[in-house]
Amino acid sequence: MNIADSEEMAAHLLARGYMPTENLDEADLALINTCTVRDHAEHRALSFLGRLRKWKRENPKRIIIFAGCAAQRLGEKLKKTFPYLDLVSGAKEIDRFAELLDNSALFIPSGTQENKPQSSITGYVTIMRGCDFECSYCIVPSVRGPVQCLPSAEILKNAAQKAAQGYKEIVLLGQTVNAWKEEGKTFADLLNEVSSIEGVERVRFVSPHPIFITNDFLKAVENNPKIARHIHLPVQSGSTKVLQEMKRGYSREILLEKLDALKKRGFAISTDIIVGFPTETEADFQETLSLVERVHFSAAYCFKYSPRQGTPAAEMTLFPEKILEERLDILLNKVKGLAESAYRAQLGKPVQILMETPNKGRTSDNFWAQTQKEYPIGSVVNTEVVSVEDTLLLTRD
Ligand code: SAH
Ligand code: SF4
Repeated sequence: MNIADSEEMAAHLLARGYMPTENLDEADLALINTCTVRDHAEHRALSFLGRLRKWKRENPKRIIIFAGCAAQRLGEKLKKTFPYLDLVSGAKEIDRFAELLDNSALFIPSGTQENKPQSSITGYVTIMRGCDFECSYCIVPSVRGPVQCLPSAEILKNAAQKAAQGYKEIVLLGQTVNAWKEEGKTFADLLNEVSSIEGVERVRFVSPHPIFITNDFLKAVENNPKIARHIHLPVQSGSTKVLQEMKRGYSREILLEKLDALKKRGFAISTDIIVGFPTETEADFQETLSLVERVHFSAAYCFKYSPRQGTPAAEMTLFPEKILEERLDILLNKVKGLAESAYRAQLGKPVQILMETPNKGRTSDNFWAQTQKEYPIGSVVNTEVVSVEDTLLLTRD
C-alpha cells in the first residue's frame, strides 16, 4: 500500500518538474512516506527525519515533506520537534496531496518530467482505502479512516493503463482488499475483469481478510489461471480466545476451514502473526505454534505486539519485554524452515512462471524459479520443477 501511495505522491512531484534520485545530496526535496502500524516503524521514520536536520541546514532551500500514517497520527505537532519540516501530509489526505502542495507557501517548480521507465513487471492498483474493522490492537482504522471503495470503472481504467505501459502482473491493493464491493459486483468479479484486460498475465491482491474468503469467492476464481495461486492471509493468532479478544471476527476452527479450502485449491499461503497480545497465555501461544505446524505456510511474518495509543488493547497490561522476546524467538525458530520446505514440496510439480529476468521469474504460487533457457521478460513459461536449491526452483523447460 505504501509503495502505491508513494508512487501516487511521486507522480504529482514529477508533474511539477521533479526527478527521482538515489542520492540525497543532490536532492532538492525529500518526501518521507511513513507507517505507524507498530511503534518501531514510526520510530524509524522519525529518526530518519531527525537525520535530515543536517541536510536541510546545508541548504535551507531544500524541502522536507512527512507523509503517510505516522504523519496522520502526529500531525502538525511534529513541527515543534522538527521545526525544519516544511509540510505534513497525513494518509487520509492522499487524494488532496497535489492541492496541498500547490496551496503551500513552498516554492514548488513548474514543468513536467516523464514518468521513470518501469523497472519491474509488477504494477500496483489501489482499489480501496481505509478499514471498517476494529481489531483491538490496530491503529489503521483511526489513521486511514473508514472504507472507501474506488469505482470499478476507475480501477479497470488504471489497470488497463498499467497493462498498456507493459506491466504484466497487476497487484490490487487495500487494507482489507477483499472487502471491496460495488452495487452488482463482487471482489471476485473485479479480479476476473482485471485478469481479462489485454496484456495482463497475472493478478494478485494484498491484504485480504479471512472473513471474506468464502466458498462463493473460491468458486468464482478457481477456474481462472491468471489469478495467482498464492494468498497473503494474516491470521494473527491460532487461539480462538485471543482472536476473540483481538476482535478478528473468526475462530481457530473457522480459520482452519478457510485455510484448508485454499490449500485444496492449490493456493500457497503466507501470513502475519502477532505474539504477546496482552491476554495471550502460554496455552494460547502454543495454539499459535500448533496452527503454524498444521498449516505449512509458505512464509510467516511475525511481530511482537506493539501497543498503539488510542486502541482498546493499549489500555491492557503489557507483557514484560523478556516474554515478548522469548515468544518471538520460539515462533521465529518454528517458521525458519517453512520457506525451504514449501520450496522442497514443489519438486516434480508443473509450474507457470512469469519471467522477471531472462532466466528467472515467479511461479503463480509465488516461488522463485530459474529456467534453463532464456525467455523475454514478461513472458509466461509453462514447465516443470526438476530440482530445488534452498529457495529456488530449477525447471525442465
Ligand atoms: N489489514 C491487514 C493488516 C494490516 S497491518 C489485516 O487485517 O490482516 C499489517 C500487520 O501488522 C498485521 O497483519 C499485523 O500482524 C501487524 N500489526 C498490526 N497492528 C499491530 C500491533 N499493534 N502490534 C504488532 N503488530 C501489529
Ligand atoms: Fe487493522 Fe484489523 Fe483493519 Fe487489518 S482488519 S487494518 S488489522 S483493524
